Amino acid sequence: MNIGEKFKNSKTVFSVEFFPPKTEEGARQILRTAKKLKELSPDYASITYGAGGSTRERTLEYGELLRDIFDFEIMPHLTCFGHSREDIEAILCRFESSGFENIMALRGDPPKGSSEFVPHPNGFKHANELVAYIRSRFPRFGIGCAGYPEKHPEAVSIDADIDNLKRKVDAGADFIVTQMFFENSHFFNFVEKCRAAGIDKPVIAGILPALSLKQVMNFKSMCSTEIPDALLKKLGEASESDGAKVGLDWAMAQIEELKSKKVPGIHLYILNRAESAVRLSHVIRGK
Ligand SMILES: Cc1cc2nc3c(=O)[nH]c(=O)nc-3n(C[C@H](O)[C@H](O)[C@H](O)COP(=O)(O)OP(=O)(O)OC[C@H]3O[C@@H](n4cnc5c(N)ncnc54)[C@H](O)[C@@H]3O)c2cc1C
Repeated sequence: MNIGEKFKNSKTVFSVEFFPPKTEEGARQILRTAKKLKELSPDYASITYGAGGSTRERTLEYGELLRDIFDFEIMPHLTCFGHSREDIEAILCRFESSGFENIMALRGDPPKGSSEFVPHPNGFKHANELVAYIRSRFPRFGIGCAGYPEKHPEAVSIDADIDNLKRKVDAGADFIVTQMFFENSHFFNFVEKCRAAGIDKPVIAGILPALSLKQVMNFKSMCSTEIPDALLKKLGEASESDGAKVGLDWAMAQIEELKSKKVPGIHLYILNRAESAVRLSHVIRGK
């Protein structure tokens, strides 16, 4: 089913994001987590595509595994980086023949070490081109795209970034999943601006239950996400083992407020860990 349909229901859609593991221990971890999350029946789960197209095979392999063994509705991510149109066509054919019905369409980031996104000479420069391609060649796919409540780091302004987001929606994206944020007002302002710009698709709040001060500082430098002083202080004062509890409480408060404002969906960046997701799923589902 097109995941976009799920947001038409009045209940908050609960989704989680996995990444394909690179090690044997990582493989055991994702399976342990999937087993625990299966009982929560998330409305869907997405699986990332590695920077620089580095997990092409593993995105498919783990996407199939999570779907076939644990019965998750899986949305694989796909990025443009390093791919020609022919590559993209071949990957989409494989996703389609494997039975996936939704794609998260992204431009992608360059691999570690290079700072600039250089499109493939016969590929796509921006995600709106990928969305348009999927919509015209694989019209049955539901399509998700990325939104940035605090603007994409390369964008000159939030308004310019929202104009570019509208290009993705106009090209055929069915819903928007946001970058993580720790301050809800950024999300609410973003949704307001989207609506003013004529973007009428569901905007799904991306929430990361933080684990430690070091981790959030990494995300701050990668994604330019604001870390509120109160969260910084609490994480700074927490012992190594208490960081996850601080992050969980913070995410819980965020989710309660988001739910009170009737967000259509909450997407948890679980980093292949189950503990916080289990607790947060109860808040999202109101149980
Ligand atoms: C929910 C989510 C999931 C993600 N999953 C992955 C993943 O699995 N793998 C991965 O490698 N990365 C992933 N990313 C990161 C993402 O690839 C990067 O943020 C990337 O830098 C931008 O991707 P995009 O699809 O938003 O690109 P775009 O929409 O192309 O935007 C990139 C920049 O270009 C500008 N822009 C967009 N369209 C145009 C246009 N037509 N003309 C001029 N400027 C334009 C935008 O304003 C923005 O500054 C994810 C991000 C999010 C929020």
